[in-house]
Amino acid sequence: MTLTTTTTHSVPVAPTIGALRPLGLDEVTITGGFWARRQDVNGQATIAHIGGWLEREGWLGNFDLAASGALPEGRRGREFSDSEVYKYLEAIAWEVGRRTAAGLPTDELEARFRAVVARVAAAQEPDGYLNTRFGRPGQGARWSDLEWGHELYCLGHLFQAAVARVRTRPDADDGLVDVARRAADLVCDVFGEGRDERICGHAEVEVGLAELGRALGEPRYLEQARLFVERHGEGTLRDIEWGRSYYQDDQHVRDADVLRGHSVRANYLAAGAADVAIETGDDELLRALDRQWDTTVERRTYVTGGQGSHHQDEAFGEDWELPSDRAYSETCAGVASVMFSWRLLLARGDARYADLIERTLFNVIETSPSAEGTAFYYANTLHQRRPGAVADAHAATPRAQSSLRAPWFDVSCCPPNTARTFASLAAYVATADASGIQLHQYAPASIRTTLDGGQAVALEVATEYPRSGSVRIRVLTDAAQPWTLSLRVPAWAEGARAMVRPADGGPEQVLDADQHGRPGTVSVDRAFAAGDEVELVLPVVPRFAAPDPRVDAVRGCLVVERGPEVFALESVDLAGTELAASDFADLRVDPDVPPRDDDDGSVTATIVDDRTGARGDVPLVRYHDWAERGPSQMRVWVPVVGA
Ligand SMILES: [Zn+2]
Repeated sequence: MTLTTTTTHSVPVAPTIGALRPLGLDEVTITGGFWARRQDVNGQATIAHIGGWLEREGWLGNFDLAASGALPEGRRGREFSDSEVYKYLEAIAWEVGRRTAAGLPTDELEARFRAVVARVAAAQEPDGYLNTRFGRPGQGARWSDLEWGHELYCLGHLFQAAVARVRTRPDADDGLVDVARRAADLVCDVFGEGRDERICGHAEVEVGLAELGRALGEPRYLEQARLFVERHGEGTLRDIEWGRSYYQDDQHVRDADVLRGHSVRANYLAAGAADVAIETGDDELLRALDRQWDTTVERRTYVTGGQGSHHQDEAFGEDWELPSDRAYSETCAGVASVMFSWRLLLARGDARYADLIERTLFNVIETSPSAEGTAFYYANTLHQRRPGAVADAHAATPRAQSSLRAPWFDVSCCPPNTARTFASLAAYVATADASGIQLHQYAPASIRTTLDGGQAVALEVATEYPRSGSVRIRVLTDAAQPWTLSLRVPAWAEGARAMVRPADGGPEQVLDADQHGRPGTVSVDRAFAAGDEVELVLPVVPRFAAPDPRVDAVRGCLVVERGPEVFALESVDLAGTELAASDFADLRVDPDVPPRDDDDGSVTATIVDDRTGARGDVPLVRYHDWAERGPSQMRVWVPVVGA
């Protein structure tokens, strides 16, 4: 199969074949609620915050130094700092697309985008090479340190930024797409078949090349992505203290049963491999990725959706090795996991991928930024034993210490990764196929698209999800023929149901939507008339969830969930309760008293001091909101009384 079509829609991923067609920012707008608030903060505060830090840390200035011939003296930041500039560009490109679709002004963002692109473009060498850390007198030679140099990794992010730009402003003349094309051509010349047959120590160029190939209709880039994917497992990278599994060079992708090694690298590679498998019709490779996803989600994923339980190598642990207090759960691993799941969802159409995406969005990616969008978690622990230290607001934090959110890190991959995800979030809400439209994520939204048969469809989604479980979809267009509206029903939604209310006042139809503990869908197939309404009612009430007994670290504990949100016990909430004087480590949860909703929107559980016997009702915090009230102790999994 070759690439024959390019999409005209504003999507981050556009497979030419698959079960579902993604709907882009030009077709879906999030119009209110939880995610619109985050998108506003992201667009108004986070993107500017990132730009400010890129400037003050000199990571943008590195491009100016490169252009003026002043490198390597004065170069600042780690070897991969160029990639943060590219993710920043990608975030702005999506934000411009989002604002354009919503009818909001984009002048200031456009100007910022063009100014940064001009500085990047000026640093590109005549043959297309682009990196501020290698290739000049006094620097390491080009491609001389593929294990740790991140040159191809950085270019992968450049390619994704170019994809965002060409899909949101195809007529833009800023030059970013040309910069990416010249760099991609060089990569193909240097690393093509029979040339340099090594890989990059940090996967990302695969997913970037594959999508750039799709976006520009350039099969050579997809072929280069395929070569990089196939070369993983050839052992071309040096063996290191954590083994070649760290950078997935220990085993061929198609032979692996589970994701392993560095969790961001593993997920970026899996996402790129999925693109390659889908575009080349490589069913064996796609089945291998299905298998890896299944096993990783069952055995190596935290209840939050977080992945990675080793601090020292930022890596997956063994099966069932999921300690709460040592959880690494890097924000970027959450972003990368969403990328991998989204590709499998488009290929397979199975709701379980959207279920994990939702869990990860609410409980990993949303946990990283503060409410104001100007401080971040890098690692996302599930258990803070000691109150953390307040991060310096005016200096980069040296490492991912998981105490309180910090404005910036010496390795600052996570903040721009959240920014590009939130700016493009509307592209993960809904898809279409030959039979109709599928809703995967629930938010107030406006959806307008054309079905395969040429039928125009418009929908309006109204909901207060995740505060409430009612999702009302109003159809705004008359249908010439019947089509199917499919709604995801999360695994936790026991007793879910759907109602169809015809615009003509006909009798309401009630559908049983309970999937009996598995993620699934409920579908309504009809010749919709304008004014028809479908309401999905999900039982969003607090509930206990128990861990898999094979996860030793949290055996005998429970977690409280409500809808897609995970809750936590935080020490600041003990003030004023009978447990104010208790040692946080002595606290247990009473499993016989179900968690319950309070009038103010919080959730309460009955907590007992195991040593003194004191007991009290304590409000739990949404995990993504923890540590917003100063240093505290926190735990997601709470031991049960008597365990
Ligand atoms: Zn990161």
